Amino acid sequence: MFEQFLKKYNLPKYRRVQLYTEYYKNLISSWEELTTWPLQLREQLEKEVPFSSLTFVSSTQSKHGDSIKVLFKTPKNNYIESVLIKERERNTVCVSCMSGCPVGCIFCASGQMGLNETLSSKQILDQILYFARYLKRFNERVSNIVYMGMGEPLLNLESVSHSILDITDMDKMGISKRRVTLSTSGYVQQLRSFIDMKLGVKLAISLHSPNQKLRDSLMPTVSKENSLIDLFNVLDEYTRETNKRITYEYVLLRGINDSIEHAKELANLLKNRIALVNLINYNENECLPFKKSKNTPLFKTILEERGITCTIRKSLGEDIKGACGQLAVNKPPC
Ligand code: SF4
Repeated sequence: MFEQFLKKYNLPKYRRVQLYTEYYKNLISSWEELTTWPLQLREQLEKEVPFSSLTFVSSTQSKHGDSIKVLFKTPKNNYIESVLIKERERNTVCVSCMSGCPVGCIFCASGQMGLNETLSSKQILDQILYFARYLKRFNERVSNIVYMGMGEPLLNLESVSHSILDITDMDKMGISKRRVTLSTSGYVQQLRSFIDMKLGVKLAISLHSPNQKLRDSLMPTVSKENSLIDLFNVLDEYTRETNKRITYEYVLLRGINDSIEHAKELANLLKNRIALVNLINYNENECLPFKKSKNTPLFKTILEERGITCTIRKSLGEDIKGACGQLAVNKPPC
């Protein structure tokens, strides 16, 4: 985003270094603070390059202070939310790549909004920089990034991949690739393109069902055009090439996908695959009919008895509707 400006004024390399250092590493909060640049050049930059592409609207902190949700407005007057999750030494930012989501998974609040806008790479990055500047006040840093907020990252692959390059570039934010996770509902063709980019970040799949029929009913838009067979063909190829473990997210919905049979079926599906299952307790939403499962520990035991590594995601931020599947800019989807 700065390249055009640097090129236009034919600025020497050291100006780029100064800009990157102040903007990405020292985390200045306005162009005025770019004091390593002469005033005239700084003023020119201010005229041509907006410091942030998002306007802060409000923030909400959870009771225990373990998560902060921020509402931003885009120049097109759409709203997005991002969440900072604080857990021991980890500061994870959950970013949105769209306002709303076109995929419409029936249990997800963001999905009920439909798509308002896909975000640019700068808009994705600005969510992370906002929290990086916030944490700087406490001498802390953003340690992990998850693309798990509003929107389907693989349907905005260009912006998402550019933002990943900025985040992981050692001259820019310099966050380790191992600490960045992209989560997708499973668009096969786009997944192949993403894998071919070899960005080196972690991959998570929103699975939520151990068979095609149930997945068709919970995630109809993505599932009907991207079968589980095709999805696993690509994922198996990815594992063969990288030997990397894939995380499978599974939100447990009472009476829908949380039975003993479902657990056994899931174990069977993932048998002989390098997999981690991340079980998610559903965060109930007053406008959606789904309920939190009572079978979570049993489901986990069944998977583990069959050799599947499994964790239960600690649900942070439920009281601020900042937990998984709850991002819907406080507008109930009903
Ligand atoms: S679960 Fe993910 S892909 Fe599905 S509607 Fe929600 S945000 Fe979109």
